[in-house]
Amino acid sequence: AAPDERTAQASQLFENFVQASTCKGTLQAFSILCRQLELDPLDYSNFYSSLKTAITSWKVKALWTKLDKRAEHKVYNQGKACQGTRCLIIGGGPCGLRTAIELALLGCKVVVIEKRDTFSRNNVLHLWPYTIHDLRGLGAKKFYGKFCAGSIDHISIRQLQLMLLKVCLILGVEIHVNIEFIKLVEPPEEQHEDSPGWRAEIRPSSHQVSEFDFDVVIGADGRRNTLDGFSRKEFRGKLAIAITANFVNRNTTAEAKVEEISGVAFIFNQKFFLELREETGIDLENIVYYKDHTHYFVMTAKKQSLLDKGVIINDYIETERLLSNDNVNQEALLSYAREAADFGTNYQLPSLDYAINHYGQPDVAMFDFTCMYASENAALIREKHGHQLLVALVGDSLLEPFWPMGTGCARGFLAAFDTAWMVRGWAQGRSPLEILAERESIYRLLPQTTTENISKNFEQYTIDPATRYPNLNSSCVRPHQVILCLCSVADSEVRPGRLLTWCQKQTEGYRGVDVTDLTSSWRNGLALCALIHRQRPELIDYDSLNEEDVAGNNQLAFDVAEREFGIQPVTLGKEMARQPEPDKLLMVLYLSKFYEAFRNSSR
Ligand code: FAD
Repeated sequence: AAPDERTAQASQLFENFVQASTCKGTLQAFSILCRQLELDPLDYSNFYSSLKTAITSWKVKALWTKLDKRAEHKVYNQGKACQGTRCLIIGGGPCGLRTAIELALLGCKVVVIEKRDTFSRNNVLHLWPYTIHDLRGLGAKKFYGKFCAGSIDHISIRQLQLMLLKVCLILGVEIHVNIEFIKLVEPPEEQHEDSPGWRAEIRPSSHQVSEFDFDVVIGADGRRNTLDGFSRKEFRGKLAIAITANFVNRNTTAEAKVEEISGVAFIFNQKFFLELREETGIDLENIVYYKDHTHYFVMTAKKQSLLDKGVIINDYIETERLLSNDNVNQEALLSYAREAADFGTNYQLPSLDYAINHYGQPDVAMFDFTCMYASENAALIREKHGHQLLVALVGDSLLEPFWPMGTGCARGFLAAFDTAWMVRGWAQGRSPLEILAERESIYRLLPQTTTENISKNFEQYTIDPATRYPNLNSSCVRPHQVILCLCSVADSEVRPGRLLTWCQKQTEGYRGVDVTDLTSSWRNGLALCALIHRQRPELIDYDSLNEEDVAGNNQLAFDVAEREFGIQPVTLGKEMARQPEPDKLLMVLYLSKFYEAFRNSSR
């Protein structure tokens, strides 16, 4: 083909990919594009620039300009900030995909696994102004022309997934659908040159992803997070039953005229709810209506009115039983939601025909929000047989949103950026405790974050949290408070009892040292210096040490141990001086590193 013809063909293939309207269709169009243009999607660090060189039509230029602008953020260091870091992301929901984009821009090798192969959720997500700005910056309008036109501030979950999937693929993210994560597989004890590192057990088990070694794993698999090691906080409120309903939008003029109901403002409209109850017997606490691909409604209904209207058949105390399939009259539920929608829109929507869901059924559902979950911690680090693994949660796995408030996507994206920032710190070799403490400090802000209190300067937003949270205190959680997130303590073979005996033996006979425990005996720093001196007397002039100089002795030991043995300090000398006694877990962790390093050469 002549050059012009080739250019036209390439741009047509790309256009097919951009316009694809399903998950499978997108993946298929992408694979055809790569095959025809002889692009290797596994060559992740060069993929985006090769694609740009191959597709040069004017139509696509604006997209490249946008993505280039994003990629120029200094934090990415031209895609080299995390070179060599391998990340596995579990879940291709909006937050998993958004995280994947950031990690790809940082230069990581990113693999996303998603257990389904369809994006089928009609439900609509509220977008905060910053998320609209963010998505526009990723070329949202190129993928979905109707994106947030005029005053629209929402998008259906599946449209959002679709556009993020496309951006991921363009940036060289490897995506595998129909792959379910089961659990992490530890590196084997016997280590030789090509031993595997951290891997994942997946279903189907024979898939190539089971041989992917990674340094970072991100749990983005929604509210039922499958990654071990995170305990969850439960917020038990009063009974809250949410109903979502989607009706067909035929885009007629009559439909276009009907006003949306934006949730937050509406929660306080008492008169509306009284009238609704009087007229229909439906009793709601709130209702939201967005006109999107469907007419989408989400409402919180009071139990008594659901019983009265025959939606719930029997009254049970346990919500699970109350809302179980066999206790819900589906027909009555369809009428209930339709009636509420009709009243809420002042009977202006001409025909309230239910849209069809993934299961071929009218798209209505009831969800229990009586208990909301949040993870205690946002990240942890595992270590096994010399392989470290950074484990983090994002999106609903981290902090479950209350849908009528519409916070899921906005807080979810913030956590995606914060997590990418942590991965960057990790790749730069910052101390594990320091990055975990910083991550937890930022996570503390997340549940309180609102459109009002985040920075309004969206242009400045990057993955650096300081660009987004005006009142950021990155050190409100201190390193010693995240010690439990370093799972090597639990994994280490040395038990505190054995560690104590070993330490006593090593420090025996040193002036001013009497090790009787793993806390206060170490405070003045002499025992630590003795431990080092016993191994390598030339490193520390023990006789010159002053028992009173707590900060100095400890700092000396920390510095020497880091420089000579690669043992990372867990705190500062002056911190040791400030506290009446060191934290036990911190000391166990720290001393067990000496044990690991010295035990074979112990004198
Ligand atoms: P999700 O969007 O839940 O994505 C998680 C992904 O992980 C899914 O694609 C899932 O298939 C995949 N996955 C799960 N387990 C595994 C595994 N073991 N291996 C591989 N992949 C896995 N929010 C609202 O504000 N309003 C709504 O009306 C609303 N409706 C919702 C309806 C449903 C059915 C669900 C599940 C969620 C709904 N949400 C709603 C929540 C909203 O979708 C999320 O807040 C938002 O999508 C961000 O979530 P996420 O990416 O963290 O998780």
